[in-house]
Amino acid sequence: MVVTRFAPSPTGYLHIGGLRTALFSYLWAKKNGGKFVLRIEDTDKARNSQEAADAILEAFKWLGLEHDGSITYQSQRDDIYAKYIKQLLDEGKAYKCYMSKEELTELRETQMAKNERTKYNGKYRDFTGETPEGVEPVIRIKAPLSGEILVRDGVKGDISFQAEDILDDFVIARGDGAPTYNFVVAIDDHLMGINEVIRGDDHLSNTPKQIVVYEALGFDIPKFYHVPMIHNSAGKKLSKRDGATDVMAYKEMGYTPQALLNFLVRLGWSHGDQEIFSMEEMQNLFNPKDINKSASIYNTEKLDWLNAHYIKNTSNPELAELLTQYDLVLTSHDKKEILLDELKDRAKTLKELAELTKEILTTPSFYDEKAVKKAFKGNAIEVLNTFGAKISAADELHLPSDYHHIMEEVVKEMDIGFGKIGQPLRVALLGKMSGPGLDSVMAILGKNETMLRIANAITMDAQNNI
Ligand code: GLU
Repeated sequence: MVVTRFAPSPTGYLHIGGLRTALFSYLWAKKNGGKFVLRIEDTDKARNSQEAADAILEAFKWLGLEHDGSITYQSQRDDIYAKYIKQLLDEGKAYKCYMSKEELTELRETQMAKNERTKYNGKYRDFTGETPEGVEPVIRIKAPLSGEILVRDGVKGDISFQAEDILDDFVIARGDGAPTYNFVVAIDDHLMGINEVIRGDDHLSNTPKQIVVYEALGFDIPKFYHVPMIHNSAGKKLSKRDGATDVMAYKEMGYTPQALLNFLVRLGWSHGDQEIFSMEEMQNLFNPKDINKSASIYNTEKLDWLNAHYIKNTSNPELAELLTQYDLVLTSHDKKEILLDELKDRAKTLKELAELTKEILTTPSFYDEKAVKKAFKGNAIEVLNTFGAKISAADELHLPSDYHHIMEEVVKEMDIGFGKIGQPLRVALLGKMSGPGLDSVMAILGKNETMLRIANAITMDAQNNI
Protein backbone atom coordinates (compact mmCIF):
# COMPACT_ATOMS: atom_id res chain seq x y z
CA MET A 1 0.00 0.00 0.00
CA VAL A 2 1.26 3.46 -0.87
CA VAL A 3 1.65 5.65 2.23
CA THR A 4 2.63 9.28 1.68
CA ARG A 5 2.92 12.12 4.11
CA PHE A 6 3.06 15.80 4.59
CA ALA A 7 5.48 16.87 7.29
CA PRO A 8 5.33 20.61 7.87
CA SER A 9 7.41 22.45 10.44
CA PRO A 10 4.93 24.73 12.23
CA THR A 11 6.82 27.99 12.05
CA GLY A 12 4.09 30.22 10.68
CA TYR A 13 1.44 29.56 8.10
CA LEU A 14 0.90 26.92 5.44
CA HIS A 15 3.00 28.01 2.47
CA ILE A 16 1.57 27.41 -1.00
CA GLY A 17 4.75 25.55 -1.96
CA GLY A 18 4.15 23.22 0.98
CA LEU A 19 0.54 22.85 0.01
CA ARG A 20 1.55 21.81 -3.48
CA THR A 21 3.71 18.94 -2.24
CA ALA A 22 0.98 18.03 0.24
CA LEU A 23 -1.51 17.93 -2.64
CA PHE A 24 0.79 15.76 -4.75
CA SER A 25 1.26 13.39 -1.79
CA TYR A 26 -2.48 13.33 -1.11
CA LEU A 27 -3.38 12.62 -4.74
CA TRP A 28 -0.82 9.88 -5.11
CA ALA A 29 -2.04 8.10 -1.97
CA LYS A 30 -5.68 8.42 -3.06
CA LYS A 31 -4.97 7.23 -6.56
CA ASN A 32 -3.42 4.07 -5.15
CA GLY A 33 -6.05 3.50 -2.49
CA GLY A 34 -3.30 4.23 0.02
CA LYS A 35 -2.91 6.55 2.95
CA PHE A 36 -1.89 10.16 3.32
CA VAL A 37 -0.67 10.95 6.81
CA LEU A 38 0.29 14.14 8.56
CA ARG A 39 3.28 14.72 10.78
CA ILE A 40 3.98 17.98 12.53
CA GLU A 41 7.74 18.50 12.77
CA ASP A 42 7.75 20.56 15.91
CA THR A 43 11.03 19.71 17.59
CA ASP A 44 12.47 23.22 17.32
CA LYS A 45 10.89 24.71 20.44
CA ALA A 46 12.17 28.20 19.70
CA ARG A 47 10.61 28.40 16.24
CA ASN A 48 7.55 26.15 16.47
CA SER A 49 4.19 26.86 18.02
CA GLN A 50 0.81 25.21 18.47
CA GLU A 51 -0.85 28.22 16.80
CA ALA A 52 1.22 27.62 13.69
CA ALA A 53 0.30 23.92 13.72
CA ASP A 54 -3.39 24.90 14.12
CA ALA A 55 -3.10 27.35 11.23
CA ILE A 56 -1.84 24.54 9.01
CA LEU A 57 -4.71 22.29 10.06
CA GLU A 58 -7.20 25.09 9.46
CA ALA A 59 -5.89 25.50 5.91
CA PHE A 60 -6.27 21.76 5.29
CA LYS A 61 -9.83 21.95 6.56
CA TRP A 62 -10.64 24.86 4.27
CA LEU A 63 -9.26 22.94 1.29
CA GLY A 64 -11.02 19.72 2.19
CA LEU A 65 -7.79 17.73 2.18
CA GLU A 66 -8.28 15.03 4.74
CA HIS A 67 -5.41 13.12 6.21
CA ASP A 68 -5.65 9.52 7.35
CA GLY A 69 -5.33 8.50 10.97
CA SER A 70 -4.22 10.71 13.80
CA ILE A 71 -1.59 13.41 13.49
CA THR A 72 1.94 12.60 14.62
CA TYR A 73 3.68 15.32 16.62
CA GLN A 74 7.42 14.88 16.76
CA SER A 75 7.57 16.79 20.03
CA GLN A 76 5.75 13.87 21.68
CA ARG A 77 8.15 11.19 20.52
CA ASP A 78 11.34 11.81 22.49
CA ASP A 79 11.16 8.35 24.08
CA ILE A 80 11.04 6.69 20.69
CA TYR A 81 14.00 8.64 19.39
CA ALA A 82 15.97 7.98 22.60
CA LYS A 83 15.46 4.25 22.10
CA TYR A 84 17.03 4.38 18.65
CA ILE A 85 19.90 6.55 19.83
CA LYS A 86 20.63 3.95 22.50
CA GLN A 87 20.41 1.16 19.94
CA LEU A 88 22.95 2.83 17.66
CA LEU A 89 25.27 3.52 20.58
CA ASP A 90 24.99 -0.09 21.76
CA GLU A 91 25.72 -1.38 18.27
CA GLY A 92 28.73 0.89 17.90
CA LYS A 93 27.09 2.71 14.99
CA ALA A 94 27.04 6.00 16.86
CA TYR A 95 29.28 7.47 19.50
CA LYS A 96 29.62 10.26 22.03
CA CYS A 97 31.64 13.22 20.90
CA TYR A 98 33.20 15.45 23.55
CA MET A 99 34.53 18.14 21.30
CA SER A 100 33.97 21.55 22.88
CA LYS A 101 32.49 24.52 21.05
CA GLU A 102 35.90 26.19 21.01
CA GLU A 103 37.55 23.16 19.49
CA LEU A 104 34.87 22.93 16.82
CA THR A 105 35.20 26.61 15.97
CA GLU A 106 38.95 26.25 15.70
CA LEU A 107 38.60 23.22 13.46
CA ARG A 108 36.18 25.10 11.21
CA GLU A 109 38.45 28.11 10.97
CA THR A 110 41.47 26.03 10.10
CA GLN A 111 39.52 24.24 7.38
CA MET A 112 38.20 27.50 6.00
CA ALA A 113 41.66 29.01 5.94
CA LYS A 114 42.80 26.07 3.83
CA ASN A 115 39.74 26.42 1.59
CA GLU A 116 38.55 22.99 2.64
CA ARG A 117 34.98 21.87 3.22
CA THR A 118 34.12 22.36 6.88
CA LYS A 119 33.36 19.06 8.52
CA TYR A 120 33.83 17.14 11.71
CA ASN A 121 37.23 15.45 11.80
CA GLY A 122 36.19 12.18 13.44
CA LYS A 123 38.20 12.81 16.60
CA TYR A 124 35.94 10.71 18.85
CA ARG A 125 34.86 8.18 16.22
CA ASP A 126 37.13 5.48 17.55
CA PHE A 127 38.29 7.24 20.70
CA THR A 128 39.57 5.07 23.51
CA GLY A 129 41.32 7.56 25.80
CA GLU A 130 40.12 9.58 28.78
CA THR A 131 37.08 11.74 27.95
CA PRO A 132 37.28 15.40 28.93
CA GLU A 133 35.40 16.72 32.00
CA GLY A 134 32.68 19.33 31.80
CA VAL A 135 31.52 18.74 28.23
CA GLU A 136 28.01 17.38 27.58
CA PRO A 137 28.73 15.03 24.71
CA VAL A 138 26.69 15.10 21.51
CA ILE A 139 25.92 11.82 19.76
CA ARG A 140 27.30 11.40 16.26
CA ILE A 141 26.43 8.70 13.79
CA LYS A 142 29.19 6.80 12.04
CA ALA A 143 28.58 7.85 8.46
CA PRO A 144 30.35 6.21 5.53
CA LEU A 145 33.21 8.54 4.74
CA SER A 146 33.92 7.24 1.28
CA GLY A 147 31.98 5.57 -1.49
CA GLU A 148 28.73 6.75 -2.96
CA ILE A 149 25.29 7.42 -1.57
CA LEU A 150 22.70 6.83 -4.22
CA VAL A 151 19.41 8.68 -4.10
CA ARG A 152 16.89 7.04 -6.41
CA ASP A 153 14.62 9.89 -7.22
CA GLY A 154 11.38 9.46 -9.14
CA VAL A 155 11.56 12.97 -10.57
CA LYS A 156 15.24 13.59 -11.06
CA GLY A 157 16.45 10.05 -11.70
CA ASP A 158 19.35 8.46 -9.83
CA ILE A 159 21.56 10.97 -8.07
CA SER A 160 24.89 9.81 -6.82
CA PHE A 161 26.57 11.69 -3.96
CA GLN A 162 30.17 11.07 -3.02
CA ALA A 163 30.22 10.50 0.72
CA GLU A 164 33.53 12.27 1.19
CA ASP A 165 32.17 15.40 -0.51
CA ILE A 166 29.03 15.78 1.54
CA LEU A 167 29.11 13.69 4.69
CA ASP A 168 30.75 13.67 8.06
CA ASP A 169 29.73 11.99 11.30
CA PHE A 170 26.80 14.29 11.81
CA VAL A 171 25.13 14.87 15.15
CA ILE A 172 22.00 12.81 15.83
CA ALA A 173 21.47 14.03 19.40
CA ARG A 174 22.58 17.25 21.00
CA GLY A 175 24.24 17.69 24.40
CA ASP A 176 20.85 17.92 26.09
CA GLY A 177 19.71 14.70 24.43
CA ALA A 178 17.48 16.41 21.84
CA PRO A 179 17.53 14.42 18.61
CA THR A 180 18.28 16.24 15.35
CA TYR A 181 16.20 16.80 12.29
CA ASN A 182 17.48 14.27 9.74
CA PHE A 183 17.58 11.56 12.37
CA VAL A 184 13.96 11.88 13.47
CA VAL A 185 12.64 12.31 9.92
CA ALA A 186 14.11 8.95 8.91
CA ILE A 187 12.79 7.21 12.03
CA ASP A 188 9.32 8.67 11.70
CA ASP A 189 9.02 7.94 8.01
CA HIS A 190 9.89 4.33 8.77
CA LEU A 191 7.64 3.94 11.83
CA MET A 192 4.73 5.62 10.10
CA GLY A 193 5.05 3.17 7.22
CA ILE A 194 5.78 5.89 4.69
CA ASN A 195 7.13 4.35 1.52
CA GLU A 196 6.83 7.25 -0.93
CA VAL A 197 8.19 10.65 0.03
CA ILE A 198 7.17 13.58 -2.16
CA ARG A 199 8.77 16.83 -1.01
CA GLY A 200 10.44 20.00 -2.23
CA ASP A 201 13.88 19.65 -3.79
CA ASP A 202 15.20 22.07 -1.18
CA HIS A 203 15.35 18.88 0.92
CA LEU A 204 17.45 16.93 -1.54
CA SER A 205 20.65 17.74 0.35
CA ASN A 206 19.17 16.16 3.50
CA THR A 207 18.36 12.92 1.76
CA PRO A 208 21.86 11.34 1.85
CA LYS A 209 21.97 11.94 5.60
CA GLN A 210 18.58 10.35 6.05
CA ILE A 211 19.75 7.40 3.96
CA VAL A 212 22.68 7.00 6.36
CA VAL A 213 20.18 6.78 9.23
CA TYR A 214 17.93 4.31 7.39
CA GLU A 215 20.89 2.10 6.68
CA ALA A 216 22.29 2.27 10.20
CA LEU A 217 18.91 1.22 11.59
CA GLY A 218 18.30 -1.41 8.93
CA PHE A 219 15.16 0.33 7.62
CA ASP A 220 13.91 0.14 4.03
CA ILE A 221 14.58 3.34 2.11
CA PRO A 222 11.40 4.95 0.78
CA LYS A 223 10.96 6.05 -2.79
CA PHE A 224 11.78 9.74 -3.11
CA TYR A 225 10.32 12.39 -5.40
CA HIS A 226 11.99 15.76 -5.04
CA VAL A 227 9.79 18.40 -6.60
CA PRO A 228 11.43 21.48 -8.16
CA MET A 229 10.59 24.80 -6.54
CA ILE A 230 7.96 27.29 -7.66
CA HIS A 231 9.55 30.33 -9.28
CA ASN A 232 8.32 33.83 -10.06
CA SER A 233 8.23 35.13 -13.62
CA ALA A 234 11.82 36.36 -13.23
CA GLY A 235 12.95 32.78 -12.54
CA LYS A 236 13.66 33.41 -8.84
CA LYS A 237 12.27 31.45 -5.90
CA LEU A 238 8.73 32.64 -5.16
CA SER A 239 8.61 35.24 -2.42
CA LYS A 240 5.95 37.32 -0.72
CA ARG A 241 6.60 40.12 -3.19
CA ASP A 242 5.35 37.95 -6.06
CA GLY A 243 2.00 37.19 -4.46
CA ALA A 244 0.67 35.74 -1.27
CA THR A 245 2.50 32.70 0.01
CA ASP A 246 0.13 32.04 2.94
CA VAL A 247 -2.58 29.63 1.83
CA MET A 248 -5.22 31.27 4.02
CA ALA A 249 -4.53 34.64 2.37
CA TYR A 250 -5.98 33.07 -0.79
CA LYS A 251 -9.18 32.39 1.10
CA GLU A 252 -9.34 36.02 2.20
CA MET A 253 -8.68 37.23 -1.32
CA GLY A 254 -11.65 35.23 -2.51
CA TYR A 255 -10.17 32.19 -4.17
CA THR A 256 -12.07 28.94 -3.98
CA PRO A 257 -10.38 25.76 -2.74
CA GLN A 258 -11.00 24.07 -6.11
CA ALA A 259 -9.31 26.89 -8.03
CA LEU A 260 -6.31 26.97 -5.73
CA LEU A 261 -5.85 23.19 -5.81
CA ASN A 262 -6.32 23.09 -9.57
CA PHE A 263 -3.79 25.92 -9.92
CA LEU A 264 -1.26 24.15 -7.70
CA VAL A 265 -1.59 20.75 -9.33
CA ARG A 266 -0.57 22.34 -12.63
CA LEU A 267 2.49 23.98 -11.10
CA GLY A 268 5.04 21.35 -11.95
CA TRP A 269 2.74 18.62 -13.19
CA SER A 270 0.78 18.26 -16.40
CA HIS A 271 -1.51 15.91 -18.21
CA GLY A 272 -1.41 16.79 -21.91
CA ASP A 273 -2.60 20.35 -22.23
CA GLN A 274 -5.54 19.96 -19.85
CA GLU A 275 -5.91 22.91 -17.50
CA ILE A 276 -9.11 22.23 -15.59
CA PHE A 277 -9.19 19.25 -13.27
CA SER A 278 -11.89 18.25 -10.84
CA MET A 279 -10.63 16.66 -7.63
CA GLU A 280 -11.70 13.30 -8.99
CA GLU A 281 -9.75 13.81 -12.20
CA MET A 282 -6.69 14.94 -10.28
CA GLN A 283 -6.87 11.78 -8.21
CA ASN A 284 -7.26 9.58 -11.26
CA LEU A 285 -4.63 11.23 -13.39
CA PHE A 286 -1.88 12.36 -11.05
CA ASN A 287 1.34 10.43 -11.19
CA PRO A 288 4.56 11.76 -9.66
CA LYS A 289 6.56 10.38 -12.57
CA ASP A 290 4.99 13.16 -14.65
CA ILE A 291 6.30 15.91 -12.36
CA ASN A 292 8.44 18.34 -14.36
CA LYS A 293 12.17 18.28 -13.83
CA SER A 294 12.46 22.05 -13.97
CA ALA A 295 10.98 24.75 -11.76
CA SER A 296 7.42 25.86 -12.41
CA ILE A 297 6.36 29.46 -12.85
CA TYR A 298 3.75 31.08 -10.65
CA ASN A 299 1.24 33.02 -12.69
CA THR A 300 -1.57 34.98 -11.04
CA GLU A 301 -3.55 35.39 -14.27
CA LYS A 302 -3.86 31.64 -14.52
CA LEU A 303 -5.14 31.44 -10.97
CA ASP A 304 -7.65 34.24 -11.64
CA TRP A 305 -8.80 32.49 -14.77
CA LEU A 306 -9.34 29.22 -12.92
CA ASN A 307 -11.08 30.98 -10.07
CA ALA A 308 -13.44 32.76 -12.46
CA HIS A 309 -14.19 29.38 -14.02
CA TYR A 310 -15.03 27.79 -10.69
CA ILE A 311 -17.12 30.74 -9.52
CA LYS A 312 -19.12 30.63 -12.74
CA ASN A 313 -19.73 26.93 -12.24
CA THR A 314 -20.68 27.04 -8.58
CA SER A 315 -24.37 26.78 -7.76
CA ASN A 316 -26.04 29.94 -6.46
CA PRO A 317 -26.91 28.54 -3.02
CA GLU A 318 -23.31 27.48 -2.59
CA LEU A 319 -22.05 30.87 -3.73
CA ALA A 320 -24.42 32.63 -1.35
CA GLU A 321 -22.97 30.51 1.43
CA LEU A 322 -19.40 31.38 0.41
CA LEU A 323 -20.24 35.09 0.33
CA THR A 324 -21.22 35.10 4.00
CA GLN A 325 -17.49 35.37 4.80
CA TYR A 326 -17.73 38.93 3.41
CA ASP A 327 -20.65 39.83 5.68
CA LEU A 328 -23.03 39.44 2.83
CA VAL A 329 -26.24 37.62 3.58
CA LEU A 330 -28.48 37.05 0.60
CA THR A 331 -31.85 35.99 1.84
CA SER A 332 -34.63 36.07 -0.71
CA HIS A 333 -34.41 33.04 -2.94
CA ASP A 334 -35.51 34.70 -6.21
CA LYS A 335 -33.30 37.70 -5.86
CA LYS A 336 -30.34 35.58 -4.94
CA GLU A 337 -30.77 33.54 -8.10
CA ILE A 338 -31.12 36.55 -10.40
CA LEU A 339 -28.34 38.46 -8.71
CA LEU A 340 -25.80 35.66 -8.77
CA ASP A 341 -26.74 34.55 -12.27
CA GLU A 342 -26.12 38.10 -13.38
CA LEU A 343 -22.84 38.60 -11.52
CA LYS A 344 -21.07 35.28 -11.25
CA ASP A 345 -19.38 35.48 -14.62
CA ARG A 346 -18.16 39.00 -13.97
CA ALA A 347 -16.01 38.27 -10.92
CA LYS A 348 -12.52 36.81 -10.73
CA THR A 349 -12.75 36.31 -6.99
CA LEU A 350 -15.44 35.79 -4.38
CA LYS A 351 -14.35 39.06 -2.85
CA GLU A 352 -14.98 40.83 -6.12
CA LEU A 353 -18.33 39.10 -6.37
CA ALA A 354 -19.19 40.30 -2.88
CA GLU A 355 -18.18 43.85 -3.81
CA LEU A 356 -20.21 43.81 -7.02
CA THR A 357 -23.19 42.50 -5.09
CA LYS A 358 -22.87 45.11 -2.37
CA GLU A 359 -22.56 47.81 -5.00
CA ILE A 360 -25.91 46.83 -6.44
CA LEU A 361 -27.64 46.41 -3.10
CA THR A 362 -26.48 49.79 -1.77
CA THR A 363 -28.53 52.86 -2.68
CA PRO A 364 -26.13 55.18 -4.53
CA SER A 365 -25.05 58.17 -2.50
CA PHE A 366 -22.77 59.38 -5.23
CA TYR A 367 -23.28 59.73 -8.97
CA ASP A 368 -20.42 59.59 -11.41
CA GLU A 369 -20.10 63.11 -12.80
CA LYS A 370 -19.33 62.14 -16.39
CA ALA A 371 -22.13 59.63 -16.44
CA VAL A 372 -24.59 62.23 -15.14
CA LYS A 373 -23.54 64.73 -17.79
CA LYS A 374 -23.96 62.18 -20.51
CA ALA A 375 -27.21 60.62 -19.35
CA PHE A 376 -29.15 63.52 -17.87
CA LYS A 377 -29.68 65.67 -20.89
CA GLY A 378 -32.66 66.36 -23.13
CA ASN A 379 -35.85 64.94 -21.69
CA ALA A 380 -34.12 62.38 -19.44
CA ILE A 381 -36.04 63.52 -16.35
CA GLU A 382 -39.34 63.27 -18.14
CA VAL A 383 -38.44 59.76 -19.27
CA LEU A 384 -37.54 58.77 -15.71
CA ASN A 385 -40.73 60.30 -14.37
CA THR A 386 -42.82 58.43 -16.91
CA PHE A 387 -41.07 55.17 -16.16
CA GLY A 388 -41.35 55.76 -12.39
CA ALA A 389 -45.08 56.40 -12.66
CA LYS A 390 -45.63 53.19 -14.62
CA ILE A 391 -43.64 51.17 -12.13
CA SER A 392 -45.58 52.69 -9.30
CA ALA A 393 -48.89 51.75 -10.94
CA ALA A 394 -47.87 48.19 -11.81
CA ASP A 395 -49.07 45.41 -9.51
CA GLU A 396 -47.00 42.37 -10.14
CA LEU A 397 -43.35 43.11 -10.73
CA HIS A 398 -41.05 40.19 -10.08
CA LEU A 399 -39.05 39.04 -13.03
CA PRO A 400 -36.52 40.99 -15.07
CA SER A 401 -38.92 40.64 -18.03
CA ASP A 402 -41.69 42.45 -16.05
CA TYR A 403 -39.44 45.50 -15.83
CA HIS A 404 -38.30 45.09 -19.39
CA HIS A 405 -41.87 45.30 -20.67
CA ILE A 406 -42.36 48.60 -18.91
CA MET A 407 -39.15 49.98 -20.39
CA GLU A 408 -40.42 48.92 -23.80
CA GLU A 409 -43.75 50.66 -23.21
CA VAL A 410 -41.99 53.91 -22.36
CA VAL A 411 -39.74 53.67 -25.41
CA LYS A 412 -42.79 53.13 -27.61
CA GLU A 413 -45.03 55.77 -26.07
CA MET A 414 -42.38 58.47 -25.96
CA ASP A 415 -40.99 57.41 -29.29
CA ILE A 416 -37.40 57.35 -28.09
CA GLY A 417 -34.41 55.04 -28.57
CA PHE A 418 -33.64 52.50 -25.85
CA GLY A 419 -30.53 54.43 -24.83
CA LYS A 420 -32.67 57.42 -23.87
CA ILE A 421 -34.20 55.44 -21.05
CA GLY A 422 -31.33 53.01 -20.43
CA GLN A 423 -28.68 55.61 -19.71
CA PRO A 424 -30.48 57.81 -17.16
CA LEU A 425 -32.04 54.75 -15.55
CA ARG A 426 -28.65 53.11 -15.18
CA VAL A 427 -27.17 56.19 -13.54
CA ALA A 428 -30.22 56.49 -11.29
CA LEU A 429 -30.03 52.86 -10.18
CA LEU A 430 -26.28 52.32 -9.98
CA GLY A 431 -24.73 55.79 -9.89
CA LYS A 432 -22.59 55.02 -12.94
CA MET A 433 -22.74 53.82 -16.51
CA SER A 434 -21.43 50.28 -16.05
CA GLY A 435 -22.97 47.23 -14.42
CA PRO A 436 -25.22 44.32 -15.18
CA GLY A 437 -28.48 44.26 -17.13
CA LEU A 438 -30.95 46.86 -15.85
CA ASP A 439 -34.02 44.66 -15.90
CA SER A 440 -32.18 42.19 -13.68
CA VAL A 441 -31.00 44.97 -11.39
CA MET A 442 -34.58 46.17 -10.93
CA ALA A 443 -35.87 42.66 -10.31
CA ILE A 444 -33.19 42.29 -7.63
CA LEU A 445 -33.97 45.65 -6.02
CA GLY A 446 -37.73 45.28 -6.22
CA LYS A 447 -40.32 47.91 -6.94
CA ASN A 448 -39.88 50.15 -3.89
CA GLU A 449 -36.11 50.43 -4.04
CA THR A 450 -36.24 50.99 -7.80
CA MET A 451 -38.70 53.86 -7.31
CA LEU A 452 -36.65 55.30 -4.49
CA ARG A 453 -33.49 55.34 -6.60
CA ILE A 454 -35.29 56.98 -9.52
CA ALA A 455 -36.71 59.66 -7.20
CA ASN A 456 -33.27 60.25 -5.64
CA ALA A 457 -31.71 60.74 -9.05
CA ILE A 458 -34.40 63.20 -10.10
CA THR A 459 -33.81 65.20 -6.91
CA MET A 460 -30.08 65.09 -7.47
CA ASP A 461 -30.52 66.42 -10.98
CA ALA A 462 -32.86 69.18 -9.83
CA GLN A 463 -30.38 70.27 -7.17
CA ASN A 464 -27.53 70.30 -9.62
CA ASN A 465 -29.45 72.57 -11.95
CA ILE A 466 -30.19 75.22 -9.35
N1 GLU B 1 9.50 19.72 7.85
C1 GLU B 1 10.04 19.96 6.55
C2 GLU B 1 9.56 21.31 6.04
O1 GLU B 1 8.59 21.83 6.55
C3 GLU B 1 9.64 18.90 5.56
C4 GLU B 1 10.39 17.66 5.78
C5 GLU B 1 10.21 16.61 4.73
O2 GLU B 1 9.29 16.70 3.91
O3 GLU B 1 10.98 15.65 4.76
O4 GLU B 1 10.16 21.84 5.13
